[in-house]
Amino acid sequence: MRPLLQRISAMISAYARLIEPTHVGGLKISCSLCEFPFLVVLARGEMGIRCPRCRASVVHMSMAHVLNAHCDSLSKFAVYELSSRGPFVTYLRRSCMNLKVSEFWPDLSPGQWRNGIQCQNVERLTYADESFDLCTSTEVFEHVVDDLIGFREIRRVLRSGGVFIFSVPLRLDERTLERAALIDGEICYLEEPEYHDDLLRGAGKVLAYRTYGFDITDKLLEAGFSKAIIDTSATEYFNGLGRPLIVATV
Ligand SMILES: [Zn+2]
Repeated sequence: MRPLLQRISAMISAYARLIEPTHVGGLKISCSLCEFPFLVVLARGEMGIRCPRCRASVVHMSMAHVLNAHCDSLSKFAVYELSSRGPFVTYLRRSCMNLKVSEFWPDLSPGQWRNGIQCQNVERLTYADESFDLCTSTEVFEHVVDDLIGFREIRRVLRSGGVFIFSVPLRLDERTLERAALIDGEICYLEEPEYHDDLLRGAGKVLAYRTYGFDITDKLLEAGFSKAIIDTSATEYFNGLGRPLIVATV
């Protein structure tokens, strides 16, 4: 294992673009993924906080924080995560019994493979009914054309008692704002288009079809989940910077 200073210096090089020198510091909060006892602050806001050991972001640490609170037997779980790399995938791989990961490539059919990763479209997953105990995703559903169909698909592949834990950009004091829709194959913009960064596609490349509000839980109930809540426990844990996450139970 590399010495801590080497890790921090490698991380600072990797995130040089982010750094705001006047805000660099540390937080005595342990990483929910690797349990490292403090976090590095590189800049203001959520994206400025990282674990120096596993490089997890606050979004991923929030996910692990809430997941650990809701799933006490992760080591016996079959899990599906809707991405294929990064510290959260590494954490799931070592924590659960069985992990399936995927990416979405519009030019591949669901179920096809690229570089060892399976393509899945959450609106028509190729997995059998009741395949998983837990599904997770971070910053995916705001990009799904028909999110109700996507939520129904996640519900379908979860077993009885299964849990779906995920993050999306969320405004807790507003209703969901639909930003765009796909009509006869054409994107119709209802609001100023908003594009997000993507690890595979690059910065500002993926259209956000909506910005979710507190009513996201209604849509999960409509999709067939028996219970859906917004869990804000990570917000408090990470000095107000953690993410509120959605926890839906079959
Ligand atoms: Zn960590």
